[in-house]
Amino acid sequence: MDDILQVVEERREVYLDWLVQLCQQPSIAAQNVGMAETAHLVERLLAGIGASARQIPTAGYPVVYGEVGGTGDKTLSFYNHYDVQPPEPLEEWHSDPFTPTVREGVFYARGVADNKGNLVARLAAVDAYLRARGSLPVNVKFIFEGEEEIGSPHLAGFAEQHQDLIRADGCIWEAGYCDVEGHREVYLGLKGILYVELTARQANVDLHSMWAAIVPSAAWHLLRALGTLKDDQDRVLIPGFYDDVLPPSAADLEALAHMPFDEDARRQQLGLRAFINGLTGPALREKYVFQPTCNICGIESGYTGEGLKTVLPHQARCKLDFRLVPNQNPHKLFEQLQTYLAEQGFADIEVRLSAALHPARTATDHPFAQLVIRGVREIYGHEPVVYPLIPGSGPMYDLCQRYGIPAVSVGVGNANSRNHAPNENIRLDDFYQGIAHLIFILEQFDTLP
Ligand SMILES: [Zn+2]
Repeated sequence: MDDILQVVEERREVYLDWLVQLCQQPSIAAQNVGMAETAHLVERLLAGIGASARQIPTAGYPVVYGEVGGTGDKTLSFYNHYDVQPPEPLEEWHSDPFTPTVREGVFYARGVADNKGNLVARLAAVDAYLRARGSLPVNVKFIFEGEEEIGSPHLAGFAEQHQDLIRADGCIWEAGYCDVEGHREVYLGLKGILYVELTARQANVDLHSMWAAIVPSAAWHLLRALGTLKDDQDRVLIPGFYDDVLPPSAADLEALAHMPFDEDARRQQLGLRAFINGLTGPALREKYVFQPTCNICGIESGYTGEGLKTVLPHQARCKLDFRLVPNQNPHKLFEQLQTYLAEQGFADIEVRLSAALHPARTATDHPFAQLVIRGVREIYGHEPVVYPLIPGSGPMYDLCQRYGIPAVSVGVGNANSRNHAPNENIRLDDFYQGIAHLIFILEQFDTLP
């Protein structure tokens, strides 16, 4: 692939200019700033590399979609997003967030790490390939959404409506970083999430606390309900909760053993005497990565201000999130939770669904995952850090696993890329190496079984 890398070398400034153009165009989905202009620009950049490009409307911001046909039968897709987070607080930026600035080999701009640097790297890889060889060995699809930073509310619907367009044999997901020692990270999945709000009500108004003798308490009622969800070993008691949990494979446990995680330093940093159940070593990592959670995000009732107020609150509320692992289903769990609470005598507690995302993963020993890992060895010259699942959540399932498409996330960020924060950045070396990594994947993709 030296001939292709030679083209990248010759077009370094061109690719950098694409990145500058895209980063100087604000695209803040939360505030509807610059969204139409950015979608248009991305469409133009796609057309510029010879892709058939178009905007596909959704009920929100459009998906910018592109295709380049290849000589082989296989199809590789790229998922990225062109929207960014709001840039505030502006006074903490060392240069204007929408005036891309390079200082000592580091490119600063809002959105450059999340996710415009990756988006442009993928365009550049295909561009260089086409210029060097005249055609691609595989078909390529670009799926660039404009609503990732506001929770991808229309991506699942888009995928469902356009299954022919998203169909692929593998998908390179939006982003990736390296650890503090510079080792590239490869992510093979995400936890899912079920987010609910519980509300307990008793009387129709707050009362003088003398009434506590005979009027039931909403706060105690909610606490008793919450108390039924988990035992003192941190095991969730909702029947069927663990039924669909996939145990980690031998390859997963191997990856887990190489995951950098300094448990003593982390424990001390957090001021903790111990992790849950006193776990250490492999069992701690395994619980962190491969076990679901049931977490109280917030709880609220009555008076907690200064001094005293003798009150019997009539309402108590709490927000819960469950981080889910493959193959748990957030919608099924929502039903199980409601049924269980009712069975335990809490049918009167309102359970409202706030968010639901499926977990997603590609097996560590899947040939596509192994190809991306091999690419890191080849291009970066070191062993990657492989995360079989990252403990956060995203819409990967809705676009990929739901349709049987394996997905792997890698990208051009670094350990200090400051996504969502002031002085967001990528290193230019990472940008160009990331392009080379993508070219490796493009070149080898049709050799997969
Ligand atoms: Zn983001």
